[in-house]
Amino acid sequence: MDSDRAQSDPAAVAAPLVAVEALTRRYRMGPQTVHALEGVTVAIHRGEFVAVMGPSGSGKSTFMNLLGCLDRPDAGQYRLNGREVAGLSSDALAALRNRSIGFVFQSFNLLPRQTALANVALPMVYAAVGHGQREERALAALEAVGLRGRAGHRPTQLSGGQQQRVAIARALVNEPLLLLADEPTGALDTATSIEIMALFQRLNRRGITIVLVTHEPEVARFAGRVLHFRDGCLTADLVQAPEAAA
Ligand code: ADP
Ligand code: MG
Repeated sequence: MDSDRAQSDPAAVAAPLVAVEALTRRYRMGPQTVHALEGVTVAIHRGEFVAVMGPSGSGKSTFMNLLGCLDRPDAGQYRLNGREVAGLSSDALAALRNRSIGFVFQSFNLLPRQTALANVALPMVYAAVGHGQREERALAALEAVGLRGRAGHRPTQLSGGQQQRVAIARALVNEPLLLLADEPTGALDTATSIEIMALFQRLNRRGITIVLVTHEPEVARFAGRVLHFRDGCLTADLVQAPEAAA
């Protein structure tokens, strides 16, 4: 049974997609302890588009790394799609991450010598998708970000905004439950940032749940909910009418 998927697990459908309780992460630095995340409790439901804001060092990336199963909390609970993550082995965590979560980063992280198509197809290699299906699905993902016509281009032959769209296609190609983006517009100019936010809005309207870190209010206004972090704590949780990114 595919228990990571909402469709096949009735208990998971009733639960929030992300449910964290008193989530805590501390880093020991010699004699000092950095309180990166101090008891964060929040629920995120399927179909939401959430922006995470806060000053540098407030715990945003720590929070995203925990949601993305890239890191483990020191205390607290994390249920992803109704399933407690804390007790999973490293292998089980990696499998859950590969099939359930898509990541987008500020620096795109594309393989420079590979085409857009090959970059997008890469997560399917790890997910053991058959060779024939990979190209078809990678092209469909490129189509979804408006870049089907650039499938044969390498990253250096693409603009920054196009490279980020390739990275978004790569994040979507395994049909994740959750898309996590850490400062995805941080390396882009304002006009391109708005284009990328318009793409996230389109994907969200198609049902993809998105959690996106940004320190720019001009970017956060396109999300339907904003979480504010300060000193490792969640200090505000605001639902808003998102502006449309044209
Ligand atoms: P943000 O993404 O909001 O800028 P981070 O989550 O990266 O903040 O960091 C939160 C706090 O944890 C900061 O004080 C940072 O210095 C510290 N921190 C983050 N990662 C590590 C690490 N690997 N080792 C030690 N301290 C860390
Ligand atoms: Mg950060």
